[in-house]
Amino acid sequence: MMILKKGRKNPNQHLFVFCPHCGEQTLSTGSLKSFSCKNCSFNFYINTASAGIALIFNENNELLVTRRRYDPAKGMLDFPGGFSEPGETIEDSLKREVKEELDLDISKLTYFSSCPNKYIYKQVTYNIIDFAFICKVKGFDKIKAQDDISDYYFIELLKIDKNQFGLDSPKMIIDQLLTSSKIADKFNFSDRP
Ligand SMILES: [Zn+2]
Repeated sequence: MMILKKGRKNPNQHLFVFCPHCGEQTLSTGSLKSFSCKNCSFNFYINTASAGIALIFNENNELLVTRRRYDPAKGMLDFPGGFSEPGETIEDSLKREVKEELDLDISKLTYFSSCPNKYIYKQVTYNIIDFAFICKVKGFDKIKAQDDISDYYFIELLKIDKNQFGLDSPKMIIDQLLTSSKIADKFNFSDRP
């Protein structure tokens, strides 16, 4: 077992032990994300995946929050968004995900911050970098919970309980929003497109 600096280990080293190229049980981890075969020198990486988070405020400056339909963190709160597909920009993926989850069309995306996240699905740990954007929506008439969310809520930022969120990055985003004391002025939430 290779112990990496700061005591961090490749979180998937126990799962990936057979080489996908030669089939021998000679796979080992070289870093937090890489694997190499001692038998045939095959190498592969589970690189950090990119995802988008949509921060959508309504006309009352309440933030749109969703409830996760599936694991990980099934039943916990989340923000709209999701993983980028190959070939997409983060903005493209966020527009697609919000449309899929809530049937909303977002526009005027303004970058807010990025947060690392861990996403464990079917035992595999994926390292994620979440990019959060403040987004505008023309209207909420069509909004409905679908796809991988089971419900949605508009909650005043100060009343959001971050412990109701299942993943780490939304909690960090909430902290960042709360410490951005002039954020309402900066982004002019009530300025509808
Ligand atoms: Zn091999």
